[in-house]
Amino acid sequence: MDTSATATLCSLCKRRPAFFFRPYSGEKLCQKCFAESIEAKVRATVSKHHMFNFDDRIAVAVSGGKDSISLLHILAKMERRHPEASLVAVTVDEGIKGYRDEALQIAAANCQMLGVEHHVVSFEKLYGFTLDQLLERAQRKGVKELTSCAYCGVLRRRAFNVAAREVEADKIATAHTLDDEVQTVLMNIFRGDMLRLAKEKPVTDEVHPRFVRKVKPFCEVPERESTLLAFVKGVRFQDVPCPYASEAMRNDVRAMLNRMEEKHAGTKHAVFRLMERVRPGLAEAVMKEEFKECVECGEPASSVLCRTCELLRRLE
Ligand code: SF4
Ligand code: ZN
Repeated sequence: MDTSATATLCSLCKRRPAFFFRPYSGEKLCQKCFAESIEAKVRATVSKHHMFNFDDRIAVAVSGGKDSISLLHILAKMERRHPEASLVAVTVDEGIKGYRDEALQIAAANCQMLGVEHHVVSFEKLYGFTLDQLLERAQRKGVKELTSCAYCGVLRRRAFNVAAREVEADKIATAHTLDDEVQTVLMNIFRGDMLRLAKEKPVTDEVHPRFVRKVKPFCEVPERESTLLAFVKGVRFQDVPCPYASEAMRNDVRAMLNRMEEKHAGTKHAVFRLMERVRPGLAEAVMKEEFKECVECGEPASSVLCRTCELLRRLE
């Protein structure tokens, strides 16, 4: 929030006082124009990437945090204008004591307020143990090569996919912001992972009939603005961080990018746009990846075992 803008009028409506300065565009916005600009950005992103069909059943991945709650509100508003489309919220309960319970409650309350159906899938039901139990087991066994988030990420992706199939969704909409996307790009570059660099994009490819396609309507919305939107709209969201939040490399990349953005406004957008242009040339890397069925669980996998079963085997 920019205090120097308080005496200035909004650059868009030129009537109401500005409360927010957008460094990368030079705009000073009032609350109403700010909220409308985010909605317009999301609509433009959705249409540019052909994210939805008019009659899609969309599963929104709602964690209960600010980004996913903001996305749920925007998609619910958009869906009202498309009577043949339908929206369902899905929440994954990883089983993180003292953390996920509050998020679940917040997700449910927002869904109820918006009249959106809410579906919860838990690690416990899906895998037979909670994330807490799994990490305890990893510690007991002395398996240390993966972070908590690495386990959680793989199992959660699977859980969202299973949940989306259960609710017969055509697409899963996730609340990844511009920041998440650009961090992921840099992390994949730093790891030298070209396949991932090519695969991670605003709309995932149709690689297997059992994979529900993922779309990211917030991919051009900076995280700072998605947070601010939740405040402007006065929605309830969970703001305590996950006790396991430990993805060391992402934290470093986030800090670095934020520093760059502060000094050179527009850096994040520049990386995002560069990737949009480079990605088609990387398509060859993805085409070589063939999906079969995991011998253990039958879910789509790029080798004999899927990533989920591979992880779980280490802990057996
Ligand atoms: Fe899972 Fe890591 Fe997110 Fe916690 S911070 S919910 S462990 S991915
Ligand atoms: Zn498997």
